[in-house]
Amino acid sequence: MGAPSKEPSKPLVKLANRLFDTERDRADFMQALLHPPVFAPTILWTQPKPPEFSWEVLPPLPWQPAFVDRLAHTVRPGQHPLHDKGYFYCLDFSSVFAVSALLSIPEAIESVIDLCAAPGGKSLFTWVALKPKRLLCNEVVRKRVRILISNLKRCGAMDAIVLNQDPAVLVEQTPNCAQLVLVDAPCSGQSLLAKGQAVPGCFHKVTLNRNANRQKRILANAAQLVQSSGYLLYSTCTYAPEENEQVCAWFLKKFPQFVPVPMSPLSLHQSPLTELPCYRLWPHTDLGAGAFMMLLKRQDRDEVQPVNEVFLTQHQLVLYAETR
Ligand code: SAM
Repeated sequence: MGAPSKEPSKPLVKLANRLFDTERDRADFMQALLHPPVFAPTILWTQPKPPEFSWEVLPPLPWQPAFVDRLAHTVRPGQHPLHDKGYFYCLDFSSVFAVSALLSIPEAIESVIDLCAAPGGKSLFTWVALKPKRLLCNEVVRKRVRILISNLKRCGAMDAIVLNQDPAVLVEQTPNCAQLVLVDAPCSGQSLLAKGQAVPGCFHKVTLNRNANRQKRILANAAQLVQSSGYLLYSTCTYAPEENEQVCAWFLKKFPQFVPVPMSPLSLHQSPLTELPCYRLWPHTDLGAGAFMMLLKRQDRDEVQPVNEVFLTQHQLVLYAETR
């Protein structure tokens, strides 16, 4: 029996019309939100794959890293004992897409700060992909720090430094502290609809404005944490251009020392809504609920400032103590 028919709401139709040129894309996009598809479970290997691993793995995409597997729909990786032993982290494939930009950075990256880190998926991806000497995982919302610490600890990222700070405080205390800054920004969360979750108000203008402004505030702080020649990755899990392409355009105008980095392996995912190298994963491509991302590089030079080690030591949350 097919899914019961649901009518798209007016705001959803309006959004689909803004996002796509063709009727086909609009209809497929709305269908994915009204009748959420079941996406292949995806895992990020945080430890070497054990020999007993025998799950059916789907063919990888050209840009997919070797330490990520998309599994057959019937597999329930979260229930497997290897999960509790910290061999892998379960995440939506859209999250892999959003952070896969890091694989196109040619330099070795020694220091990273993930400004919006909980529950820890992008931090763990970065830890595995780049093996930075210093990984700072910051989560401003205190009650979300516990799950962040628990995931880092379970997956063995014991060398990560967890912080619970407002990004503005980090700028004040230790500016230009990282070669790479991640801003996986809080957003209106429209893609949660494609996971079957209710997201009241996610199309409302007030919600979009509030989130876009919050993202601008976080990015303005993030810009001051990036070292000369360093990188800033901005991503969201929402579809609204107000929070994505328009925030990027605002950022580039406000911080001309940053230039966007085109990523040829992702050219098929170029956002149709801008000339800038912004990339999107759509929910009706059967890969994941949806993501937006742009990578930026800081081009100007200034004096290297020492990292404020005293501040980090005083404010670092100790992994074992927090998870008791
Ligand atoms: N990067 C995470 C991951 O991959 O697991 C998901 C991050 S989630 C999309 C956004 C996070 O930003 C949330 O944990 C939220 O608590 C945090 N956040 C909310 N307001 C913030 C703010 N003003 N500054 C920084 N982070 C904020």
